[in-house]
Amino acid sequence: MRKTQKGYFGEFGGSFMNNEIQRELDKIEVAYRKLAKDKAFISELRQLQRDFQGRPTPLYYCKNLTKKMRAESGKDFGAKIYLKREDLNHTGAHKINHCMGEALLARYLGKRKIIAETGAGQHGLAIATACAYFGLECEVHMGEVDVIKQSINVEKMKLLGANVITVMNGQRTLKEAVDSAFVAYEQDLENSIYCIGSVVGPHPFPTMVRDFQSIIGKEAKRQIKRQDKKLPFAIVACVGGGSNAIGIFHDFIEEENVFLYGVEPLGRGEKLGDHAATMTYGKKGIFHGYSSTFLQNDDGTIADVHSISSGLDYPGIGPEHSYLNSIGRVKYVTCSDQDAMNAFYLLSRTEGIIPALESSHAIAFGCKLARTLPSSESIIINLSGRGDKDIATVTRLNP
Ligand SMILES: *Cc1c(COP(=O)(O)O)cnc(C)c1O
Repeated sequence: MRKTQKGYFGEFGGSFMNNEIQRELDKIEVAYRKLAKDKAFISELRQLQRDFQGRPTPLYYCKNLTKKMRAESGKDFGAKIYLKREDLNHTGAHKINHCMGEALLARYLGKRKIIAETGAGQHGLAIATACAYFGLECEVHMGEVDVIKQSINVEKMKLLGANVITVMNGQRTLKEAVDSAFVAYEQDLENSIYCIGSVVGPHPFPTMVRDFQSIIGKEAKRQIKRQDKKLPFAIVACVGGGSNAIGIFHDFIEEENVFLYGVEPLGRGEKLGDHAATMTYGKKGIFHGYSSTFLQNDDGTIADVHSISSGLDYPGIGPEHSYLNSIGRVKYVTCSDQDAMNAFYLLSRTEGIIPALESSHAIAFGCKLARTLPSSESIIINLSGRGDKDIATVTRLNP
């Protein structure tokens, strides 16, 4: 194992991989640093974002939801609630933002194949879509539990030409899918490139994925200045690995008056194994090739996790989040399965927008926050994805 100094956020991040993979990641890093400044690369990505993905996504003022929250809070309270509509991206979530970027990178590097993991299937779907567009071979590793829970996404990935590998060991969810995908990658470094699903993993993934996702915050800043004539009081986003959150936060980090909230899944409760609230209950460690905060058992092994939303069901969090937490710039809070489910119904019925269960965590906390703020303030909630994939899960729990 070799430790490189590159890609650190404070004391978090880095790359802890064997030499063979490290050599390949070093090559990707060098290529990426060049391409990130390359005019042709940037303009091709911009055009794809506009014409293929449907960017910019709207910043939507929730008139009905705001009114409802105002009715529940005291006089002159209830901030304006805006949603950044990442659910309106092609494939229905923010993940396509970095998948198109990474697939374009793969093409510039002359790779033939992309290997990826997926939890809820949203990353798998986005990467399968990007691979279909670029004519790349696509192999997606997915835990058996998620394959069953998210069968429609599995069918979609297959339809798009991806090879879906069902992972049968351990908890059979996202953690094991990552392990399995890394093993496959190591066996085919020459032809393939790994495309991680969040701002996690070894350097340069957390930086690359953040850069591709930061389009969310860049647009949101422009939009809120135009629509509200000022910056928001706060920005709220759900946190699994942390890509949609870092994406919307990044352009606001320098704006010290804007509060940033990351909402973690509290699942069924505070007991280890019942949630996936990594920052709130985790400890520093090294896992999946990077140093960050992880949910760990007393003996330091990685803990089991639970969340109603497969996309948040991960025992780690991006290293940049650990850093932002350590300097106090972002506040990490939690939301239970039940509160997320209530928010899922609330947004559907007040605004006619069915949110992803992941995003519902941010909506629940955002509504709570809005009720405590003066009505002259506004907040932005990142609506990371749409809820079509979750309808079976929700109706099974609320027949
Ligand atoms: C995957 C996913 C998430 C969680 O991933 P992050 O990297 O934390 O953003 C959140 N929302 C949706 C809709 C997702 O698909």
